[in-house]
Amino acid sequence: MYNTKAYSAASATSPLSLTQIGRRAPTEHDVQMEILFCGICHSDVHSVRNEWSNFMSTTYPIVPGHEIVGRVTQVGSAVTKYKPGDLAAIGCMVDSDGICPNCKAGFEQFCSNMILTYNSPDKHLGGVTYGGYSDSIVVDEGFALRVPDNLDLAGVAPLLCAGITTYSPLRHWGVTPGKKVGIVGLGGLGHMGVKFAHAFGAHVVVFTTSPNKKEDALRLGADEVVVSRNADEMQQHAGSFDFILDTVSAQHDINAYLNLLRPDGNVTLVGAPPNPLEIPAFSLIMGRRSLSGSIIGGIAETQEMLDFCGEHNITADVEVIPIQKVNEAYERLLNSDVKYRFVIDMASLKTE
Ligand code: NAP
Ligand code: ZN
Repeated sequence: MYNTKAYSAASATSPLSLTQIGRRAPTEHDVQMEILFCGICHSDVHSVRNEWSNFMSTTYPIVPGHEIVGRVTQVGSAVTKYKPGDLAAIGCMVDSDGICPNCKAGFEQFCSNMILTYNSPDKHLGGVTYGGYSDSIVVDEGFALRVPDNLDLAGVAPLLCAGITTYSPLRHWGVTPGKKVGIVGLGGLGHMGVKFAHAFGAHVVVFTTSPNKKEDALRLGADEVVVSRNADEMQQHAGSFDFILDTVSAQHDINAYLNLLRPDGNVTLVGAPPNPLEIPAFSLIMGRRSLSGSIIGGIAETQEMLDFCGEHNITADVEVIPIQKVNEAYERLLNSDVKYRFVIDMASLKTE
């Protein structure tokens, strides 16, 4: 075991601050990485503040961060995919059992023994796993991803969660040319959803509560922008969507979007507001509409997404911050004030 610097929160009401954490010495299948950049996902905020306590409560101290890009510093004797000096990335998962039908099918994210990058049981050291707001990390090579060498590294970090979480359902629900697709919420996930839906050739409509994001939405690849608090604008799209991806982090009326689906259309939730949704049966039975959810994506699909981004020159639009500004960034996220992902330059941690 060795010690490394990190930022952690001691309770649901504490700010994040500097600490030391233990990491395991790399075993034969492990890759050790120096972390260069780590994105700030709204899930980090939900977790630090224990907002998902009914579903997965937070163990403190918590070190968040699951959009990790770094450079390999050491590899175990059995590692074949990486060597010291290579770039590598880690997303939301660091392990799974590898033997269940879900793992065998490439759906590690559905494995009942899946280990999240933070706040999951750590089978090596005990306690819980610690995420990417840190100097370095050790991971099984099977959960490390290859980074295309033509992309800006700060802009790559958010692909590891915001990227795969939007890419996967857009692929699953057959988003292709000729489809009318809505993206609800223009934040970290939403802006990646717009880029992918546009790259897949769909007609893309952004729904936002922030009228000042209109021009950005068009620049990011939207064909139309609807201010969702304007009922008339919403009504103009009634019954017309094939697919709508909802990325909103807070309570809102999902029925307003179900009503915009054409027959057999689907709304998929990736946003994870803490409170239950209220959905009248008629929102679904009219037009045989469906509502579903989606969580990140498997390792193979995450690699496919990264390779797609390399080929199509897609990265996140980022605001790079030093780690000392992380608490301020959380407040700005809660105000929908992000363009469009905060990414921590981990060099800033070395100065502490
Ligand atoms: P984010 O950057 O904060 O973006 C969320 C966006 O939602 C905001 O920018 C805002 O967009 C909109 N919004 C916020 N409050 C709203 C409200 N009260 N009513 C309507 N719209 C509102 O967050 P993120 O990192 O993209 O994450 C979004 C959600 O996805 C979070 O709940 C997160 O935990 C979840 N998530 C899920 C997965 C998964 O695998 N399913 C993975 C990662 C994250 P506008 O200003 O455009 O309205
Ligand atoms: Zn995330």
